[in-house]
Amino acid sequence: MTCDFLALAQPGVQKLSPYVPGKPVEELAREFGLRAEDIVKLASNENPLGPGPEVLKAIKAALSDMTRYPDGNGFALKQALAAKLHVAPAMITLGNGSNDILELVTRAFVASQHEVVFSEHAFAVYPIVTQAVGAKAVVVPAREWGHDLAAMAAAITPATRLVFIANPNNPTGTWIERAELEAFLKQVPEQVIVVLDEAYTEYVETSDVPNGIDYLRDYPNLLVSRTFSKAYGLAALRVGYGICQPAIADAMNRVRQPFNVNSLALAAAVAALGDEQYLAESRRVNREGMQQLEEGFRRQGLSWIPSRGNFIAVDLGREAAPAFQALLREGVIVRPVANYGMPRHLRVSIGLPSENQRFLEALARVMAGE
Ligand SMILES: *Cc1c(COP(=O)(O)O)cnc(C)c1O
Repeated sequence: MTCDFLALAQPGVQKLSPYVPGKPVEELAREFGLRAEDIVKLASNENPLGPGPEVLKAIKAALSDMTRYPDGNGFALKQALAAKLHVAPAMITLGNGSNDILELVTRAFVASQHEVVFSEHAFAVYPIVTQAVGAKAVVVPAREWGHDLAAMAAAITPATRLVFIANPNNPTGTWIERAELEAFLKQVPEQVIVVLDEAYTEYVETSDVPNGIDYLRDYPNLLVSRTFSKAYGLAALRVGYGICQPAIADAMNRVRQPFNVNSLALAAAVAALGDEQYLAESRRVNREGMQQLEEGFRRQGLSWIPSRGNFIAVDLGREAAPAFQALLREGVIVRPVANYGMPRHLRVSIGLPSENQRFLEALARVMAGE
């Protein structure tokens, strides 16, 4: 007898598609017989600089303690974050990446009778965490690829427990301005938690994009989530954090794994926070790389969605899947976003100048049908 175990999974889980990550370099190397060092990966919004010297030093120093459990409360990292962000340590929850924060708040507050509101073309983890707890995902149509906050506010019902907002959003790169966010927060009922996902906030260099932390005092239902995976360059170590009122943090703490952030990640994150030079260099490379890609797209007659992140969604004006495959054969990995309802776009992470160049040249060949 064989049991259909998937049929036993809760209905929300049965309807889910697993998260599709960027294709790993090693996988492409295996499939196409390419050398890993000849492959350019611009598919997962990783920092192209590699780890900074301070981070490497901190990890090496932490290695000898590997036999011990990490500090389950992340004391040193919380202290460093609290000092930097001017918030109380009790307002900080550490996560195994900020994905963990998104999942913790959902598991702590959302049950199957509840609803979770987020935008069309928003980060793929929102439907996953929502349906994993059996709740109803309320997907609000986007406006010019970005969040329509007025429509999202209107979608809130008495069953709503959470609203997810990504600012800037991945994969579109779109952002919400200060006045829009303020008007939205004013409308949200106090028992609905607003998760403001600021995974790319360190890349934002303009003052029109709000800093979620400024709103924590006035809006006790706000949770700001951030990560060390992007501008801080620690994607593989998995460390992120949430900032919110201690009562929300308390609930999240009750459901998290006791040692959800490992000791190398904790040490590296403290070092990364202190390395202002690395962050400044990351911003510069991103700013210049963004210009380089925009310039290249302009020359190739392609349009794109203006982005405030470390990636850009380019519109190929036709189904993008064949171009994605052809780019793979050129040794260039980018990200198809058809699963985000964007079949004509490719999302490209900003790389080093030489990587951006490789991509632009390959794209030109692919679009010319060579
Ligand atoms: C990359 C990303 C995250 C961060 O993921 P980590 O788990 O911290 O690596 C969160 N939200 C969005 C919108 C992202 O693009």
